[in-house]
Amino acid sequence: MQRAREPVRSICCIGAGYVGGPTCAVIACQNPKIQVTVVDLDQARIDAWKSDHLPIFEPGLRDVVQFARDEQYSGHETRPPNLFFSTDIDSAIVSADLIFIAVNTPTKLVGQGAGSASDLAYVEAAARRIAEVSTSDKIVAQKSTVPCGTAHTLRHIFASVAQNSDVNFEILSNPEFLAEGTAIRDLLSPDRILIGSNTDRRALQAAERLADVYAAWVPRERILTVNCWSSELSKLAANCMLAQRISSINSLSAICEVTGADVDEVAQAVGQDTRIGSKMLKASAGFGGSCFKKDVLCLVYIAESYNLHEVALYWRRIVDINEYSKARFAKWIIQSLHNTLDRKKIAILGWAYKKDTGDTRESAAINVAGQLIAENAHVAVYDPEVRPDQIISDLTQHHNTDALAKKVSIHKNPYSACEGASAVVILTEWDEFKTDGLPSAVANVLDKEVLEVPLVSVPRRTSEDSRGSSERSWVRDDY
Ligand code: NAD
Repeated sequence: MQRAREPVRSICCIGAGYVGGPTCAVIACQNPKIQVTVVDLDQARIDAWKSDHLPIFEPGLRDVVQFARDEQYSGHETRPPNLFFSTDIDSAIVSADLIFIAVNTPTKLVGQGAGSASDLAYVEAAARRIAEVSTSDKIVAQKSTVPCGTAHTLRHIFASVAQNSDVNFEILSNPEFLAEGTAIRDLLSPDRILIGSNTDRRALQAAERLADVYAAWVPRERILTVNCWSSELSKLAANCMLAQRISSINSLSAICEVTGADVDEVAQAVGQDTRIGSKMLKASAGFGGSCFKKDVLCLVYIAESYNLHEVALYWRRIVDINEYSKARFAKWIIQSLHNTLDRKKIAILGWAYKKDTGDTRESAAINVAGQLIAENAHVAVYDPEVRPDQIISDLTQHHNTDALAKKVSIHKNPYSACEGASAVVILTEWDEFKTDGLPSAVANVLDKEVLEVPLVSVPRRTSEDSRGSSERSWVRDDY
């Protein structure tokens, strides 16, 4: 009789960010017998995960975290907590049999004009720590998005750091495909789970034990096991192809503007072709977020490294078109306001890089606002989830702080942002901004010469909004 596989009993996840936190919350909910500890170097982030004010905004996240993190009572039954957050990284490593690495892999510039590669310093630091402190065998599942070949490199690191110990490390690739804004939905019902492993018996067994964790709620046929290189490249390829669709529709949007075609009509007509599909075909000011640009540049770097210059050039254009789209969008606003923004107020509704997240990394809004400010406009910003200090921090990376104080205000509701504005620019497609046409409530507070940017329309006033506060300077700390 075949012996049953040893189940995973304890998981440690290194990195409590947008990936580590939600992923482990869902794993803990679905596997009540597994102890899941998410660790991070950042004390404030860990404190927030333990509190009612989670460090990130994500629909449904709070319920999932509270369910697994806090003791639950129903009738006579008690569900003990199995989700923990900690900065005691070493203890969590020691007691785990499965360790996820979910740390950041930002872009770093390499050499003089040589390109941009993924910075693997955080991944390497996490791996070295695991190798140094482990006293029993571990499965290490690499969840961060990395260049192909990283699992191979990690095996060498583990072999060299732990060369005098009997501890065995099985390195797997297990990239995460969640999208911010729909992370919990994506985690609960993933299109696929990808596990990359070596083909020797121990590695395949480790892959099966990891698959068992997901199989608690994911149908087996959606759990794909491939080699590590395929797994690592598939994650990059998926993000690059999604970014490519956005750059494709944005480049078509430029052609629409000069020819009289309507980009929404084109997107609908093209998207209805079942070979193409309708998703990710909405024209915009450009993609943002921490992943798309970074992952396209990573693919470009890989192609360059293997002397595939034409391939590198092809993917590089996806990022170039994105930069062009942001510049074109700002230019269009300026031209529509008679080529001068001098002392004109522009309302910016939405700052997050997409709806249903508070994440502003690489948000197109930062770039577009910066261009408007450079033309001497006053920019009045409203976003339902992004904190004012985040908006300030995003802008001060590119602009002088003193100059900004006179040119930016941050608002608690869209109406005060729009008051007296010459243009309303909607840069995040929050549902609250979606209405048919320009409601009179907003029209009344706009300047006479109104420019409604036709990406999306303007929000409806609610009774709560009409009680909202008045405009505040961004330098005031009583926000
Ligand atoms: P993040 O910046 O939100 O979180 C990473 C966390 O890792 C940070 O809190 C940081 O303090 C912590 N960290 C770094 N080094 C550490 C160490 N040695 N020990 C302990 N903690 C450490 O990043 P993220 O958005 O969660 O992304 C993580 C990875 O997942 C990246 O490679 C990213 O490309 C990939 N990814 C992100 C998304 C997304 O939507 N954000 C989706 C899929 C994949």
